[in-house]
Amino acid sequence: MTRGTTLINGGWVIPMTDREVYEGGAVLVKDGVVGAVFRAEDELPEVETVVDAAGCVVMPGLVNTHCHSPMSLFRGLADDMPLASWLNEHIFPAEAAHINPETVRAGALLSCVEMLLSGTTTVCDGYFYEGEVAEAVVETGMRGVLAHGVIDFPAPGVPDPSENVEKAAAFVEAWKDRWPLVTPSIFCHTPYTCSEKTLAVAKEACRRLGVLFQIHVAETEDEVQRLKEERGISPYQLLDDLHILDETTLLIHNVWMSSRDMDLVARRGTTASHNPGSNTKLASGLCPASALMEKGIHVGLGTDGAASNNNLDLFNDMQLTAKLHKAYSLDPVAMDAWTVLEMATLEGAKAIGLGGSIGSLLPGKRADIILVDMNKPHLTPTHNPVSHLVYAATGADVRDVFVEGRQVVKGGRLLTVDVGSVMAEVNRIAAFMG
Ligand SMILES: [Zn+2]
Repeated sequence: MTRGTTLINGGWVIPMTDREVYEGGAVLVKDGVVGAVFRAEDELPEVETVVDAAGCVVMPGLVNTHCHSPMSLFRGLADDMPLASWLNEHIFPAEAAHINPETVRAGALLSCVEMLLSGTTTVCDGYFYEGEVAEAVVETGMRGVLAHGVIDFPAPGVPDPSENVEKAAAFVEAWKDRWPLVTPSIFCHTPYTCSEKTLAVAKEACRRLGVLFQIHVAETEDEVQRLKEERGISPYQLLDDLHILDETTLLIHNVWMSSRDMDLVARRGTTASHNPGSNTKLASGLCPASALMEKGIHVGLGTDGAASNNNLDLFNDMQLTAKLHKAYSLDPVAMDAWTVLEMATLEGAKAIGLGGSIGSLLPGKRADIILVDMNKPHLTPTHNPVSHLVYAATGADVRDVFVEGRQVVKGGRLLTVDVGSVMAEVNRIAAFMG
């Protein structure tokens, strides 16, 4: 027996290293990493701890490639309106009135709790006071690529916009040695809320610090149209002219994209985040994710903030992705379940720069693993567990969650923080809103 070893044994192991389900398989976890993946016929090692996974899917934790975790504070505050009014008349004023380090911490804790309980082990996040988000991520035991926001207006914690990139770079410096749970990053809001100079300086800081640059782009038709009228170019061309499109830039939304834009992004090796819940709720449109993937672009799934989704259950977004693309293309073969599951795991990990560390159960990768309980009426019978994960399961079916080999959810209960206190604190803050 080797000390510190855990064997997750039984069930349907879906390592996402190939399109195979190992029925009756097992996963060995040692020192926070995946030690081995076994098939039913393999001989199993003696270990210190055995987790019985009979009746469960055993798979990599889900990767949410886009979120603003503190925005759970604004869940359901303003719905059923266009993005411009939602943002300018509700969200920006609510942020100005209520966002401070304490509320950011409370909202981020709530989001981390929600994500871990629904099987998301990694979040790629961007907001203000992001150091508080990082503390929440560490406290709950999840993993995050966390970015400080950059915008050319006075923002929470950054009253003077001329200091916006400097503040974001200081966040990266402060958190750059906190691997494995925290990987810092910088997030420019959009090409229309950041000047060309801000965009270029922020990307330069990312290059110098060796971190991911993130940006919302082409979310609405209006923003693309306006730039075309003013400058005669697309936002992708603008970003490329500023040398921002490369393998360490993540483009979020990508709803209004021409095939020329797609070719450009593919040529630069730039990655993308698809946010079907947020884009449909705000009626922005649908990212041509299948076409992007056909061109070799890594596309992950994102929930966006809880103010525009309105939950952070990535199972929800998996189902939406599969069904929306079929309906939109009038092709039932489009966006099959395996493709969607890859987007929520390995492709998402690649999109946020962690493809070598997470996203599949390849031996040597960090042990971020979830168990999804298939012993439920809505998941019976289990002809095909991959189909169930995309078309029938929800985050509430997640039984156990491991991050870095550490169990953080057991039997549907979070082990790291008191969920009741986290919810009570958010309710206390929310009582001052509206
Ligand atoms: Zn967003």
